[in-house]
Amino acid sequence: MKLKIILLLTCVSFLVYSCSSNDDDTTTPTTLPANDDDDQDDDTSGNADSDTTNVDTDTPDTDADSDSDDTDELAVYQKIYAATDIYKDGDFVVIEVNGLPDHNSPYYQDTEWSDRYENNTDPDFRLNPNRISSADRTIRIPLHPEEASSHESTALGVMGVAINGVAFFNQYAGPNDQPLTNEIFSFDQYNGHPQGQGVYHYHIEPTYLTAKEDVGNEGLLGFLLDGFPVYGPFENNVAVSNNDLDEYHGHNHATEDYPDGIYHYHITAEDPYINGNGYYGTPGTSTD
Ligand SMILES: [Zn+2]
Ligand SMILES: [Zn+2]
Repeated sequence: MKLKIILLLTCVSFLVYSCSSNDDDTTTPTTLPANDDDDQDDDTSGNADSDTTNVDTDTPDTDADSDSDDTDELAVYQKIYAATDIYKDGDFVVIEVNGLPDHNSPYYQDTEWSDRYENNTDPDFRLNPNRISSADRTIRIPLHPEEASSHESTALGVMGVAINGVAFFNQYAGPNDQPLTNEIFSFDQYNGHPQGQGVYHYHIEPTYLTAKEDVGNEGLLGFLLDGFPVYGPFENNVAVSNNDLDEYHGHNHATEDYPDGIYHYHITAEDPYINGNGYYGTPGTSTD
């Protein structure tokens, strides 16, 4: 009887010792936060190292916690399904895309992706001379966007990213606030077109996305560079009009992705379509 108790005590103390020593193992390395996109890799190797018998139940728990924190924080960005990489860098989310539309377009004509060529049969359509090219685009947007004290104007060029990796451009066709009046005729069947360097972009509703069953006309369509999300042209089955929005083309309330509420832009059917008079927050960067 005594022997059994001693044996039991030995086992228990061994387990306690193993667990605590294992905890130490998981807390000592400080490499995890250095590069968050490598979390997955670090975890795998970490588990492999300490995975001996049943004591490893402690290790995955610790890892799972820190992992799910990151996963939760980055979860909404995973909706950018065309991103080739998404990771955290300090207070920023870094999103890498190639910028190619995942739908057909007449602007794929004579490119290396010519299998995605499809003419726009709208009789008003006028093909512009540009053709789609791919980019090595890195977008850095604030992870916790806040209203800026001075609202910076959106520049010509990339002002945001759609969930299919395509760039959002503002409501102007060129310098000095040139309206889109003529450019609109060169939009393909999904409302996009490439500019002179082949950067394909949407100035208005990306109808390929809003027609998607899992997105719809109320879903998350992407983000502007200030980190605030862009939603579709409807809300609770009602078309959003410019009157529902402030001068930056957004407003603040809870959404499916942000149950605690967030400022967000809406794409509307009328000019200025995506963004109004500048960014609501402080823009990050887009680099090709
Ligand atoms: Zn354009
Ligand atoms: Zn809204």
